[in-house]
Amino acid sequence: MPRIEVASEAGACFGVERALGMVDELARVGSLSVATLGPLIHNPRVIGQLEQEGVRVVEAADAASGSMLVLRTHGSTPAEEALARETAEAVTDATCPLVKRVHRAVERMYGDGRTVVVVGEAGHPEVVATMARAEGSLCVGSAEEAAALGIEGPVGVVAQTTITHELFEACCEALSRTHDDVEVADTICDATTKRQAAARELAERADCMIVIGGKNSANTRHLYDICAVACPNSHHIESPDELDVSSLEGCDLIGITAGASTPAAHIEELLDYLHASLGIESS
Ligand code: SF4
Repeated sequence: MPRIEVASEAGACFGVERALGMVDELARVGSLSVATLGPLIHNPRVIGQLEQEGVRVVEAADAASGSMLVLRTHGSTPAEEALARETAEAVTDATCPLVKRVHRAVERMYGDGRTVVVVGEAGHPEVVATMARAEGSLCVGSAEEAAALGIEGPVGVVAQTTITHELFEACCEALSRTHDDVEVADTICDATTKRQAAARELAERADCMIVIGGKNSANTRHLYDICAVACPNSHHIESPDELDVSSLEGCDLIGITAGASTPAAHIEELLDYLHASLGIESS
């Protein structure tokens, strides 16, 4: 009889739960309509649920006049924050404290005269908000890109919170080979590291891995990449109905993990779905 096992660290992190709790309270007891500046988190199902509760997503800070505007978990640029405070009726900052820690590291390095390099995904909202804190900052997504940089003067390196340690270390090593003065701040989030380690450990034992979470979520995609290396029969889904159940045939151990932006309820829903469709038990 096949078994199902959920990774020992999986699902919504403290920053996401904190942001969802803040918005939930504002929507329930607040006197103003609530809008978020960009999606609060990278999980389309959760954003859809919030919209049903009346929480709008606005793409520009000046599109929420008369509303309570919530700055999202990934952070906002200083210009967006300033515009939000100028134009919205009120502002709530739901930026994860660990993302703010990256902002502080970048501001300090920039203040010390360093050119800041952010290792991460160019264009990701967290990276955009981080880079906006240091003029002339650069983003690299691979060791090859890092090795190709020819920066004059001292360099400061930080990580997008959700990247893998392997990528960060490879980029730091490449920069240290080509530059004399490199200061490194490892700003990878602990929640990310723990989910990645637990996913890898489970994927190495499982016959199939199911990764649940937003397809637009960087940390969920990284979990999938890690799982796919250790377990080729890996699947990234946002909801159980996307799962090809035939791919589970013959599996002794089915592993489940979930991104940091995936609520616990979505993991429970997947477990219920597997129980109902396959008649198998979780361990
Ligand atoms: S993954 Fe880490 S940095 Fe990102 S929201 Fe969660 S706790 Fe914060």
